[in-house]
Amino acid sequence: MVKKKDFSAGLPDPTPLIEDIISKYPRKVAKKRAKAMIANTPDEDQEIQANVRTIPGIITQRGCTYAGCKGVVLGPTRDIINLVHGPIGCSFYAWLTRRNQTRPETPTDENYMMYAFSTDMQDENIVFGGEVKLKQAIREAFELFKPKAIGVFSTCPVGLIGDDVHAVSREMKEELGINIFGFSCEGYRGVSQSAGHHIANNQVFKNVVGLNDRPRKSKFQLNLLGEYNIGGDAFELEALFEEVGIELISTFSGNSTIKSMEYAHTVDLNIVMCHRSINYIAEMMEEKYGIPWIKANFIGSEATAKTLRKIGEFFDDAELTAKIEEVIARESAKVKEVMDAIKPKTEGKLAMMFVGGSRAHHYQELFKELGVTTVSAGYEFAHRDDYEGRKVIPNIKIDADTRNIEEITVTKTENPELWREDLVEKKAALEKKGYEFSDYEGMMPEMTKNSLVIDDISHLETEKLIEFYKPDIFCAGIKEKYVVQKSGVPLKQLHSYDYGGPYTAFGGAINFFKEMERMLVTDVWKLVDTPWKSEPEIVGSMTINA
Ligand code: SF4
Repeated sequence: MVKKKDFSAGLPDPTPLIEDIISKYPRKVAKKRAKAMIANTPDEDQEIQANVRTIPGIITQRGCTYAGCKGVVLGPTRDIINLVHGPIGCSFYAWLTRRNQTRPETPTDENYMMYAFSTDMQDENIVFGGEVKLKQAIREAFELFKPKAIGVFSTCPVGLIGDDVHAVSREMKEELGINIFGFSCEGYRGVSQSAGHHIANNQVFKNVVGLNDRPRKSKFQLNLLGEYNIGGDAFELEALFEEVGIELISTFSGNSTIKSMEYAHTVDLNIVMCHRSINYIAEMMEEKYGIPWIKANFIGSEATAKTLRKIGEFFDDAELTAKIEEVIARESAKVKEVMDAIKPKTEGKLAMMFVGGSRAHHYQELFKELGVTTVSAGYEFAHRDDYEGRKVIPNIKIDADTRNIEEITVTKTENPELWREDLVEKKAALEKKGYEFSDYEGMMPEMTKNSLVIDDISHLETEKLIEFYKPDIFCAGIKEKYVVQKSGVPLKQLHSYDYGGPYTAFGGAINFFKEMERMLVTDVWKLVDTPWKSEPEIVGSMTINA
């Protein structure tokens, strides 16, 4: 039975644990990994190594650039055919296994999300080129579905043989008369899926945003960026905005359509959930149209209330503010009732989370509301600003991997009707009063002293952390799930939610609390005993009949 640790007097300094971990690595690896581990001191500026290449063989959690582009950013958009140019394995890998949900407005509306479109490249295409096959696949997809848009995604072999997905897309756009554009998102192009997010942002901004100057229909209009509708998260937020009287124009990209992204530039404000995957579009929209952005967090009831109030402050409308306060008062009371019933059973438990680019930060709010301490956390694909805050962006070294991603130049729109001088002035006035725009303070300043922050955690490090902290719950993804559970620690997937959710906003907080009660208040995990504890080596025999 696992003996739990008591950290009620504060977390221990994790430096000896870091030293123990790196002592197990070869010298060069140890030097590199040491820079990715920080004994957190929230009041000090500490530099963590992030967004650098994974050391081969350490068993990373990361995904490839193509997965970030096709699977994460474009995958949840239902009315575009996302055609993968590559072997069928790549298509299967990004075939929406993250449980993104969508809800077409009518039963006959386009929804291609359940399909996996692929050119299914074979050996002969690798040797003689695959552009002819790609053109055939685009024509076939068009004939069958008559979509309004097709996106073409490059995989590793495509980059290696040099097929030009952009030239083919241009030619097919001309021939078929619909919007077709390509993504140079070969799996190896960046250090992780983060490069794929950036590439997706660039191409969506270049080829989609701004195509339709739809006239204003509501008094308050905003876009929700970096929300991917896992387990219905975006549905919760849509209902929340509708109730308070804000029109959600487009979500990038949970429960989204390409059609809504075309007029996403007609909003008054962009709010950014997952900072890492989508801050580029927020920046570009501000550059071109003058639309400001703020960081949002709808994970946890306090965080949701804070974000709603910040949106209310931006619009500065008495009726809207009153409605926001009414919703907060009513919904917070429901959350509190559930929290008060569960918290006495979860208080003092320990959590760890190693996920994505914002979730490892946002979910700490929910655990805090249950009295659960996050002892260690880190991201799979974050950059230094996601840990230390955007203030460090000017100091981040631009390396060859970053240069591999196309840098697009965005300039102010020449259409005076689209440039929002009113918003530029509003931003300046609010900033004078201390309102923060275009900012994200990062995860580390909000974490407890002596919590252990690790970027791109390896398998060995995962095992060592479990051994040291003996956490009550580990939040990560499917790759880690069963290894962690075999150690007697429950694992909650925060990429796909293990068929649970939604977890956003007030209703989501209640769902999460109930799920945590189920996972944390049970003795079943103490009964897990692994065979390698008593029989560390499995011995087999084989008889060969000559
Ligand atoms: S790493 Fe390359 S081959 Fe593997 S899934 Fe990504 S694009 Fe496909």
